[in-house]
Amino acid sequence: MPRFSNAAALEWLRDGNQRFLERVKADEHRPADLVRGQDPEAVVLGCADSRVPPEIVFDVGLGELFVIRVAGGVANTASIASVEYAVTQLGTRLVVVLAHEKCGAVSAAIQGGDAGRNLNRLMEYIEPAVQRCHEGDVNDVARMNAKLNAERLVAESEILREAAESGDLRIATAFHRFTTGAVEFD
Ligand SMILES: [Zn+2]
Repeated sequence: MPRFSNAAALEWLRDGNQRFLERVKADEHRPADLVRGQDPEAVVLGCADSRVPPEIVFDVGLGELFVIRVAGGVANTASIASVEYAVTQLGTRLVVVLAHEKCGAVSAAIQGGDAGRNLNRLMEYIEPAVQRCHEGDVNDVARMNAKLNAERLVAESEILREAAESGDLRIATAFHRFTTGAVEFD
């Protein structure tokens, strides 16, 4: 459980932003460059899990990575549209669908049952991986889920399919072990 009350958590965020402002003032984040625009080198479609922030895992700075995070890293209408934006408007040429170990969303999909309207809808995106991988553990299902959601990106987006078929866009999958920090690319 979190340590803080909601009011204390808000203060904790304010304090964190004050520390960040000091680093911006020291020009560590090149704010002038960021005002000009963004040229992210890759898109990461990953999970909302607090242990797997792509900018930290890949050791990159502001403006360098276009990150879409949703529980289970699923390719739904909103996340596919976000990938399309990066590819068509920003010219990004690489998409990585990033799974991770001990994923709570994947565990919930394996467990099944009624989780309420919205979570149930989310589970539908992960369910195919559970069915394809019923002998496997949560990490096997998470890897399969990344592969199937990578396939969904091209199956459900004409823009991404054409970009991938022309060779302008590569869509990769990877698995992040937060216990070691390592990312294993497939
Ligand atoms: Zn997760």
